[in-house]
Amino acid sequence: MENLRETLMLLSDLQEKDIKIEELKNKIEELPKAIEQKKQELSNVKIEFGNKKAEYVRLNSLKNEKETLLSAKESIIVKHTGDLNNVKSNDVYKTCLLEIEKAKADKSVIEDEILQLMEDIDKEVVILKQHEITLKNSEVDINNDIKNMESSIGKMKEELSNMKNDRESFSKNINANILSQYERIRENRKGLGLSLVDGDSCGGCNMVIRPQLINQATKCQELVYCDNCSRILFNKKDVI
Ligand SMILES: [Zn+2]
Repeated sequence: MENLRETLMLLSDLQEKDIKIEELKNKIEELPKAIEQKKQELSNVKIEFGNKKAEYVRLNSLKNEKETLLSAKESIIVKHTGDLNNVKSNDVYKTCLLEIEKAKADKSVIEDEILQLMEDIDKEVVILKQHEITLKNSEVDINNDIKNMESSIGKMKEELSNMKNDRESFSKNINANILSQYERIRENRKGLGLSLVDGDSCGGCNMVIRPQLINQATKCQELVYCDNCSRILFNKKDVI
Protein backbone atom coordinates (compact mmCIF):
# COMPACT_ATOMS: atom_id res chain seq x y z
CA MET A 1 0.00 0.00 0.00
CA GLU A 2 1.18 3.49 -0.75
CA ASN A 3 2.47 5.64 2.06
CA LEU A 4 -0.52 6.38 4.26
CA ARG A 5 1.16 9.33 5.91
CA GLU A 6 1.59 11.01 2.51
CA THR A 7 -2.02 10.32 1.64
CA LEU A 8 -3.20 11.79 4.92
CA MET A 9 -0.98 14.85 4.39
CA LEU A 10 -2.69 15.33 1.03
CA LEU A 11 -6.07 14.80 2.68
CA SER A 12 -5.20 17.40 5.28
CA ASP A 13 -4.30 19.87 2.51
CA LEU A 14 -7.56 19.00 0.77
CA GLN A 15 -9.47 19.68 3.97
CA GLU A 16 -7.86 23.12 4.20
CA LYS A 17 -9.07 23.81 0.70
CA ASP A 18 -12.55 22.59 1.66
CA ILE A 19 -12.59 24.84 4.71
CA LYS A 20 -11.63 27.86 2.58
CA ILE A 21 -14.32 26.93 0.02
CA GLU A 22 -16.93 26.76 2.81
CA GLU A 23 -15.83 30.10 4.22
CA LEU A 24 -16.10 31.75 0.84
CA LYS A 25 -19.52 30.15 0.22
CA ASN A 26 -20.73 31.55 3.55
CA LYS A 27 -19.40 35.00 2.68
CA ILE A 28 -21.24 34.88 -0.65
CA GLU A 29 -24.43 33.86 1.13
CA GLU A 30 -24.07 36.67 3.68
CA LEU A 31 -23.55 39.46 1.16
CA PRO A 32 -27.13 39.74 -0.15
CA LYS A 33 -28.28 40.18 3.47
CA ALA A 34 -25.70 42.92 3.96
CA ILE A 35 -26.91 44.57 0.75
CA GLU A 36 -30.51 44.41 2.03
CA GLN A 37 -29.36 46.05 5.27
CA LYS A 38 -27.72 48.87 3.32
CA LYS A 39 -30.91 49.40 1.32
CA GLN A 40 -32.86 49.56 4.57
CA GLU A 41 -30.36 52.09 5.91
CA LEU A 42 -30.92 54.24 2.83
CA SER A 43 -34.68 54.11 3.20
CA ASN A 44 -34.36 55.07 6.90
CA VAL A 45 -32.26 58.09 5.98
CA LYS A 46 -34.95 59.14 3.49
CA ILE A 47 -37.72 58.69 6.03
CA GLU A 48 -35.75 60.78 8.51
CA PHE A 49 -35.42 63.54 5.92
CA GLY A 50 -39.16 63.33 5.26
CA ASN A 51 -39.80 63.84 8.99
CA LYS A 52 -37.53 66.88 9.03
CA LYS A 53 -39.44 68.27 6.06
CA ALA A 54 -42.73 67.91 7.94
CA GLU A 55 -41.98 70.93 10.15
CA TYR A 56 -41.36 73.06 7.06
CA VAL A 57 -44.65 71.88 5.52
CA ARG A 58 -46.51 72.59 8.78
CA LEU A 59 -45.18 76.16 9.01
CA ASN A 60 -46.07 76.84 5.39
CA SER A 61 -49.63 75.65 5.73
CA LEU A 62 -49.99 77.75 8.90
CA LYS A 63 -48.75 80.76 6.94
CA ASN A 64 -51.33 80.04 4.19
CA GLU A 65 -54.09 79.91 6.81
CA LYS A 66 -52.97 83.23 8.26
CA GLU A 67 -52.91 84.81 4.80
CA THR A 68 -56.47 83.67 4.13
CA LEU A 69 -57.50 85.17 7.46
CA LEU A 70 -55.67 88.39 6.62
CA SER A 71 -57.49 88.84 3.33
CA ALA A 72 -60.81 88.20 5.13
CA LYS A 73 -59.99 91.04 7.53
CA GLU A 74 -59.03 93.26 4.57
CA SER A 75 -62.40 92.55 2.92
CA ILE A 76 -64.18 93.54 6.15
CA ILE A 77 -62.26 96.83 6.19
CA VAL A 78 -63.07 97.54 2.52
CA LYS A 79 -66.73 96.64 3.00
CA HIS A 80 -67.24 98.80 6.10
CA THR A 81 -65.27 101.70 4.63
CA GLY A 82 -67.70 101.58 1.68
CA ASP A 83 -70.66 101.41 4.07
CA LEU A 84 -69.52 104.60 5.83
CA ASN A 85 -70.65 106.72 2.84
CA ASN A 86 -74.15 105.28 2.83
CA VAL A 87 -75.16 105.03 6.49
CA LYS A 88 -77.80 107.39 7.66
CA SER A 89 -77.76 106.95 11.44
CA ASN A 90 -74.98 108.07 13.69
CA ASP A 91 -75.10 104.82 15.70
CA VAL A 92 -74.62 102.65 12.63
CA TYR A 93 -71.79 104.95 11.53
CA LYS A 94 -70.08 104.44 14.91
CA THR A 95 -70.59 100.69 14.75
CA CYS A 96 -69.02 100.69 11.28
CA LEU A 97 -66.01 102.63 12.54
CA LEU A 98 -65.63 100.21 15.46
CA GLU A 99 -65.77 97.22 13.09
CA ILE A 100 -63.13 98.82 10.90
CA GLU A 101 -60.88 99.54 13.91
CA LYS A 102 -61.31 95.98 15.21
CA ALA A 103 -60.50 94.47 11.80
CA LYS A 104 -57.44 96.73 11.49
CA ALA A 105 -56.21 95.63 14.93
CA ASP A 106 -56.76 91.95 14.03
CA LYS A 107 -55.01 92.53 10.71
CA SER A 108 -51.99 93.98 12.44
CA VAL A 109 -51.72 90.96 14.79
CA ILE A 110 -52.03 88.56 11.85
CA GLU A 111 -49.40 90.46 9.88
CA ASP A 112 -46.98 90.12 12.81
CA GLU A 113 -47.74 86.40 13.01
CA ILE A 114 -47.10 86.02 9.28
CA LEU A 115 -43.78 87.87 9.57
CA GLN A 116 -42.75 85.56 12.44
CA LEU A 117 -43.77 82.51 10.39
CA MET A 118 -41.76 83.75 7.40
CA GLU A 119 -38.74 84.07 9.67
CA ASP A 120 -39.28 80.55 11.03
CA ILE A 121 -39.72 79.20 7.50
CA ASP A 122 -36.44 80.81 6.41
CA LYS A 123 -34.67 79.12 9.32
CA GLU A 124 -36.27 75.77 8.40
CA VAL A 125 -35.12 76.19 4.80
CA VAL A 126 -31.52 76.57 6.00
CA ILE A 127 -31.82 73.49 8.23
CA LEU A 128 -33.50 71.51 5.45
CA LYS A 129 -30.74 72.39 2.97
CA GLN A 130 -28.16 71.04 5.42
CA HIS A 131 -30.18 67.87 5.86
CA GLU A 132 -30.53 67.58 2.12
CA ILE A 133 -26.75 67.70 1.71
CA THR A 134 -26.37 65.07 4.44
CA LEU A 135 -29.00 62.92 2.75
CA LYS A 136 -27.31 63.22 -0.66
CA ASN A 137 -23.92 62.32 0.84
CA SER A 138 -25.29 59.30 2.68
CA GLU A 139 -27.14 58.27 -0.46
CA VAL A 140 -23.91 58.39 -2.49
CA ASP A 141 -21.97 56.51 0.22
CA ILE A 142 -24.60 53.81 0.69
CA ASN A 143 -25.09 53.31 -3.05
CA ASN A 144 -21.32 53.00 -3.46
CA ASP A 145 -21.22 50.40 -0.71
CA ILE A 146 -24.02 48.48 -2.41
CA LYS A 147 -22.28 48.66 -5.79
CA ASN A 148 -19.00 47.44 -4.26
CA MET A 149 -20.74 44.57 -2.49
CA GLU A 150 -22.55 43.56 -5.67
CA SER A 151 -19.36 43.56 -7.68
CA SER A 152 -17.52 41.63 -4.96
CA ILE A 153 -20.22 38.93 -5.12
CA GLY A 154 -19.28 38.44 -8.78
CA LYS A 155 -15.57 38.30 -8.00
CA MET A 156 -16.10 35.91 -5.09
CA LYS A 157 -18.21 33.58 -7.25
CA GLU A 158 -15.45 33.51 -9.81
CA GLU A 159 -12.89 32.81 -7.08
CA LEU A 160 -15.11 30.07 -5.68
CA SER A 161 -15.37 28.37 -9.03
CA ASN A 162 -11.55 28.49 -9.42
CA MET A 163 -11.14 27.07 -5.92
CA LYS A 164 -13.58 24.25 -6.70
CA ASN A 165 -11.73 23.40 -9.91
CA ASP A 166 -8.42 23.41 -8.06
CA ARG A 167 -9.95 21.22 -5.35
CA GLU A 168 -11.22 18.76 -7.94
CA SER A 169 -7.88 18.34 -9.67
CA PHE A 170 -6.03 18.17 -6.35
CA SER A 171 -8.33 15.45 -5.04
CA LYS A 172 -7.37 13.21 -7.98
CA ASN A 173 -3.97 12.72 -6.29
CA ILE A 174 -5.60 11.12 -3.28
CA ASN A 175 -6.33 7.41 -2.83
CA ALA A 176 -9.92 7.00 -4.02
CA ASN A 177 -10.98 4.76 -1.13
CA ILE A 178 -9.67 7.12 1.57
CA LEU A 179 -11.07 10.12 -0.31
CA SER A 180 -14.54 8.61 -0.44
CA GLN A 181 -14.41 7.85 3.31
CA TYR A 182 -13.37 11.42 3.96
CA GLU A 183 -16.21 12.75 1.80
CA ARG A 184 -18.75 10.56 3.56
CA ILE A 185 -17.61 11.56 7.05
CA ARG A 186 -17.44 15.29 6.28
CA GLU A 187 -21.02 15.23 4.98
CA ASN A 188 -22.15 14.16 8.45
CA ARG A 189 -19.56 16.01 10.52
CA LYS A 190 -19.92 19.70 9.80
CA GLY A 191 -17.64 19.64 6.79
CA LEU A 192 -14.67 18.05 8.59
CA GLY A 193 -13.77 14.46 7.65
CA LEU A 194 -10.26 14.50 9.07
CA SER A 195 -9.25 15.28 12.67
CA LEU A 196 -5.75 16.25 13.58
CA VAL A 197 -4.46 14.91 16.90
CA ASP A 198 -3.99 17.91 19.17
CA GLY A 199 -1.91 16.90 22.22
CA ASP A 200 -3.99 14.13 23.74
CA SER A 201 -7.29 15.15 22.19
CA CYS A 202 -9.11 15.06 18.88
CA GLY A 203 -8.86 18.38 16.99
CA GLY A 204 -12.35 17.79 15.56
CA CYS A 205 -14.43 17.10 18.68
CA ASN A 206 -11.93 18.06 21.43
CA MET A 207 -12.46 14.79 23.30
CA VAL A 208 -9.47 13.00 24.87
CA ILE A 209 -8.22 10.15 22.70
CA ARG A 210 -7.02 6.77 24.02
CA PRO A 211 -3.18 6.56 24.03
CA GLN A 212 -3.31 3.46 21.86
CA LEU A 213 -5.29 5.34 19.24
CA ILE A 214 -2.83 8.23 19.31
CA ASN A 215 -0.07 5.71 18.86
CA GLN A 216 -1.81 4.19 15.84
CA ALA A 217 -2.58 7.60 14.37
CA THR A 218 1.08 8.51 14.74
CA LYS A 219 2.40 5.31 13.19
CA CYS A 220 0.14 5.72 10.18
CA GLN A 221 0.04 2.07 9.30
CA GLU A 222 -3.71 1.87 9.05
CA LEU A 223 -6.63 4.26 9.07
CA VAL A 224 -7.88 5.06 12.60
CA TYR A 225 -10.99 6.89 13.63
CA CYS A 226 -11.87 9.02 16.65
CA ASP A 227 -13.97 6.96 19.12
CA ASN A 228 -16.19 9.96 19.69
CA CYS A 229 -16.73 11.75 16.36
CA SER A 230 -15.65 8.97 13.98
CA ARG A 231 -13.45 11.29 11.94
CA ILE A 232 -10.23 9.94 10.43
CA LEU A 233 -7.48 10.63 12.95
CA PHE A 234 -4.12 11.92 11.81
CA ASN A 235 -1.12 12.94 13.86
CA LYS A 236 0.50 15.44 11.54
CA LYS A 237 3.26 16.61 13.88
CA ASP A 238 4.92 13.51 15.25
CA VAL A 239 6.75 11.49 12.69
CA ILE A 240 8.17 8.24 13.98
ZN1 LIG B 1 -13.19 13.36 17.51
